[in-house]
Amino acid sequence: ASYARIAETDASVQAFLTLNEEGARAAAAELDRALADGGEQGLLFGLPAGIKDNIVTEGLRTTCASQFLRNYDPIYDATVAKKLKSAQAVTIGKLNMDEFAMGGSNENSGFHPTRNPWNTDYVPGGSSGGSAASVAAGQVYFALGSDTGGSIRQPAAYCGIVGLKPTYGLVSRYGLVAFASSLDQIGPLTKNVEDSAYVLQAIAGYDANDSTSANVDIPDYVGALSGDVKGLRIGVPKEYLGQGIDPKVKEAVLEALKRFESLGATWEEVSLPHTEYAVATYYLLASSEASSNLARFDGVRYGVRADNPDNLLDLYRKSRSQGFGQEVKRRIMLGTYALSSGYYDAYYLKAQKVRTLIKRDFDDVFEKFDLIVGPTAPTTAFPIGEQIGDPLTMYLNDICTIPVSLAGVPAISVPCGFADGLPVGLQIIGKAFDERTVLRAAHAYE
Ligand code: GLN
Repeated sequence: ASYARIAETDASVQAFLTLNEEGARAAAAELDRALADGGEQGLLFGLPAGIKDNIVTEGLRTTCASQFLRNYDPIYDATVAKKLKSAQAVTIGKLNMDEFAMGGSNENSGFHPTRNPWNTDYVPGGSSGGSAASVAAGQVYFALGSDTGGSIRQPAAYCGIVGLKPTYGLVSRYGLVAFASSLDQIGPLTKNVEDSAYVLQAIAGYDANDSTSANVDIPDYVGALSGDVKGLRIGVPKEYLGQGIDPKVKEAVLEALKRFESLGATWEEVSLPHTEYAVATYYLLASSEASSNLARFDGVRYGVRADNPDNLLDLYRKSRSQGFGQEVKRRIMLGTYALSSGYYDAYYLKAQKVRTLIKRDFDDVFEKFDLIVGPTAPTTAFPIGEQIGDPLTMYLNDICTIPVSLAGVPAISVPCGFADGLPVGLQIIGKAFDERTVLRAAHAYE
């Protein structure tokens, strides 16, 4: 059914980069056999899954939507890919994204842009745009994405589905091609909150292969979905409903807050005073980390090697010039500059300090409140081509998701109505490792 749906819809949505039809059919047959032999069903038994193309899958092409990796077939599975297999999900294929997860519209894919299933002239968001569009188009039951500054939540909002960015460290990054290691986090994109809880249950947990993996007990996420939010205290940051936020998005969020009130929760306006510095801080830190992480793509160890280099330096230069797209080059240049001697203190170190202030903003609010609620993005999806020539405008689309990433706390985007025929996303942000409350509130709301 999944492949039939892809055949029907993917010529227009273009969510997939690689299909795994033979592998998926073999895996499904294997599951049938195991079941017939009296085996127990895994948590995600037989569910068709899509995986973002920056998560390595053994023997299954993994390109990060970069021409640099157009021929790269990994020799191992990321921890999350292994966990999906052991939960008995079936991998349908690999999903499009902005190259190396840098972007918010899928227009930075080195292959082709994915389109928003609600209106194919519009972007699906990004960078996990292929994951969000595929779930929204009914091609897969759920997908995995990665979120560094909003890349799960923002495309989920634009495509009218549910996207969860877990607490930093809850889900292993082993086998996730690194963009900004202190921010990257893998999470589920699903049609509803219950599915999100199931997928999180399957992929969360300590992993000795990831040095930043948190060694915490994994609670029962599905069991947290009680439907009850009575007495929950919600803070609504005034910075998330002020300047730059589309009035129709604001209206949808205020409606959602009324619904929370009617369910027995309370809300109050709060302030996250350092929000205005978040985007600048993020682009310094994320680009710095990216410039270091992407140094491994040298034309020797992974992916495509340029032909006829004059010498070793020329090999690096040619391979990188040919392999990386424009946005990736822009970030490598920015990050290399920010990390260079003489500038480090002024930029990188300063940004680290501001990151701490942003995190403290959240700590302060969470002393009095259980959750923080606001829009996921300031607008709904925009037309393909509208912002691609203007990186600064594009960067501002993440104003509501980036601070959460810098603070490392969990957040979910759930659909909260429409504006001009396109879905609006509501962002529910929780305390570190309190995914249960985030999921419970999202489930009661949806
Ligand atoms: N849009 C943001 C960026 O371009 C976030 C990307 C992400 O979360 N991977 O960096």
